[in-house]
Amino acid sequence: MLRIENLVVHYGGVAALDGISLEVEEGSIVTLIGANGAGKSTCLKAVSGLVRPTSGEIWFQGTRIDGMKPQRIVKMGIVQVPEGRRLFPYMSVFDNLLTGAHLRKDQEQIARDLDGVYRYFPILLEKRKQAARSLSGGQQQMVAFGRGLMAHPKVFLFDEPSLGLAPMLVREVGEHIRQHAEEGYTIVLVEQNANLALALADRAYVLERGRIVLEGAAKELRDNEYVRKAYLGI
Ligand code: ATP
Repeated sequence: MLRIENLVVHYGGVAALDGISLEVEEGSIVTLIGANGAGKSTCLKAVSGLVRPTSGEIWFQGTRIDGMKPQRIVKMGIVQVPEGRRLFPYMSVFDNLLTGAHLRKDQEQIARDLDGVYRYFPILLEKRKQAARSLSGGQQQMVAFGRGLMAHPKVFLFDEPSLGLAPMLVREVGEHIRQHAEEGYTIVLVEQNANLALALADRAYVLERGRIVLEGAAKELRDNEYVRKAYLGI
């Protein structure tokens, strides 16, 4: 469904991604794990069209999307869910959610999707008139997720959804991600929390300094000696 081939991204003279290739099957959860600065976010930004690759190709459902404008990529069905604190802090929860649908014109379906978000996260209905900044970290992550759902995507790109959350909320976020994969969404999950990521994902890639150093079934990587030492703290 989504395929990255030999992707290179530079910031100035520095290569943040140095030729990575990966494949995401429809309905699966694929995770990219790696330390701070490994290039995980850059990879998501390249898929969303927020950074321009130096070379390499990105394909989505048979169409080459590298070099396309971000809005076009969203319209094709790829939506990035940023880490929860990057909402519009002074806007209400309701308005934040609606920003997710700003490229759509199908008002009735938008209303149905909004109902769906509130059904899924009832607390957001309760707090819909409050400024996003007044919500807890976990609730803000729900708004970020809900905003993604409002774009009616096929693929979700999650950037560190567990960042800054208490362990109980981390499990809850994980549960939401798993449920959405079960409903047929395709998910790319970038995480520093390798425990969470490998528990959720079908397939995993380990990124170090812009290169993929290991890849395989998430289950297998969880048992891999190197991954256990370097990323799972076992
Ligand atoms: P983190 O978890 O800290 O976000 P990451 O694995 O997502 O790490 P990236 O944010 O993709 O890593 O960064 C990869 C490399 O590119 C790092 O060395 C980083 O310092 C550098 N970098 C990221 N964004 C920029 C930018 N806008 N300008 C210059 N260098 C950048």
